[in-house]
Amino acid sequence: MTGGCQCGRVRYEAKVDPAEAYLCHCRMCQRATGGVSIAFVGLAQADCRWEGAPDWYQSSPIAKRPFCSQCGTPLGFQFLEGENMDLTVGSFDDPSPFRPKHHFGVESLHEAWIDTSALPRHRAADHDPLVKRWRDATGAMPE
Ligand SMILES: [Zn+2]
Ligand SMILES: [Zn+2]
Repeated sequence: MTGGCQCGRVRYEAKVDPAEAYLCHCRMCQRATGGVSIAFVGLAQADCRWEGAPDWYQSSPIAKRPFCSQCGTPLGFQFLEGENMDLTVGSFDDPSPFRPKHHFGVESLHEAWIDTSALPRHRAADHDPLVKRWRDATGAMPE
């Protein structure tokens, strides 16, 4: 499967099992991604081929994270030592096949964000001020 950063400078091709994804709720991931949690899928480093090398940020004494310094997209996680890594599910070109199998780092899990199924749902394309901004800038809404 393929993916990359938002601006397209960093691209990757990876052999992953989309049924093996998970959510990490640890504070390191919350800080590194700005999210309440981050969806990851694990794989062997040997099964990830970068096309356009990512930048790396050493986020702790034991781990580093690939990202794009041009657009800021968080792309994954890797221990300094070892043979495995994670890629962020949202950076894949098609995140739809991925299924979460478990939660990790649950000591800092924010319960209010887990079961959001009862919340009202709004499509971006129905938000007129947003649609107008896109139309004025590019003529159409993005995919
Ligand atoms: Zn980028
Ligand atoms: Zn984490």
